[in-house]
Amino acid sequence: MREVPCANCGAAPVHHYPTASYAPFLLDRVFGIQPESLGERLGAADLARTQRATLWLFRCILGCFPLGRRFLGYRGRARTILAACPECGFLGPAAELAETDIGNLYRDYRSPGYNADRIRYEPEYAALAPVIGRHGQEVRERLSHVDGFLGPILDCEGIRTVLDWGGGDGSFIPVRLRNRAVTVLDLCEDARPPSPYRFTATLAPGEGFDYIQLCHVLEHLRYPRKELEGILCHLNPGGYLYLEVPYERTPEDLEGLRRGDPRVHHLIHEHLNLYDETSLAALGRSLGLRLEACARVKLECGYASVQTVSAVFQVAGRLGTRAE
Ligand SMILES: [Zn+2]
Repeated sequence: MREVPCANCGAAPVHHYPTASYAPFLLDRVFGIQPESLGERLGAADLARTQRATLWLFRCILGCFPLGRRFLGYRGRARTILAACPECGFLGPAAELAETDIGNLYRDYRSPGYNADRIRYEPEYAALAPVIGRHGQEVRERLSHVDGFLGPILDCEGIRTVLDWGGGDGSFIPVRLRNRAVTVLDLCEDARPPSPYRFTATLAPGEGFDYIQLCHVLEHLRYPRKELEGILCHLNPGGYLYLEVPYERTPEDLEGLRRGDPRVHHLIHEHLNLYDETSLAALGRSLGLRLEACARVKLECGYASVQTVSAVFQVAGRLGTRAE
């Protein structure tokens, strides 16, 4: 495989290891590939009649038990290459994925259609779909964290304009900034309840903001650095950038993946990338921003206990001095 720079910090070259695979849901949504379940495979085997009858009987017997039904429903994954950056530790897919491919993965994100597609491959997602990103305790915990984290750092008096990039319905805008001129940019047409915020799918070229946040967005992007570079054109001089991503593996797992340890595996699903404090800080710094604070915290979301990594950066200049 040719040498490529890190999609997160731009350092070159990344290491490639055969330790990643695409989940069946992603294979279907992005590539239009529908992996057979074990049950379907047994039914489709090109065999003599007696052998086919034996397999059919085997399938019927398994189908009588919950564990057997789970076994029959199992769908294979497709192996692919993991890219690991030796500079910042970022981990993500090595394969080129076009914007349209990724668009297929997230179209109608978390809408009933998306949930139904996903539950077809992952029955366990049915319990999570109604609460993820919406559970009262999750909203409270995340807001309390972000307000506490940003409070000592932001010059709140100087911030007049706020952009929540990929912000859905705008639930996670810090409470202390809600009475500013808030814009929520998202492609999801149905995530717009009555709200004091302005919702849009695009920004005008010269539009600038004093505070921009990307919460739980970067892990979904194939090229986070390139995307963020475009977003920073909209950050005013002296403005702040707040980034928040999930922390999904143990430090030992992340180290194993960075070394190409064959015992550790990255299942590429809704989240393409794995972050930690070092890689998140490196992303902003590589684009010329000054890191103000970075931390990993544990949050109790009601339905699960999760960890997130938060980083806040400031761009050079003074708030309120952008040329109109
Ligand atoms: Zn890197």
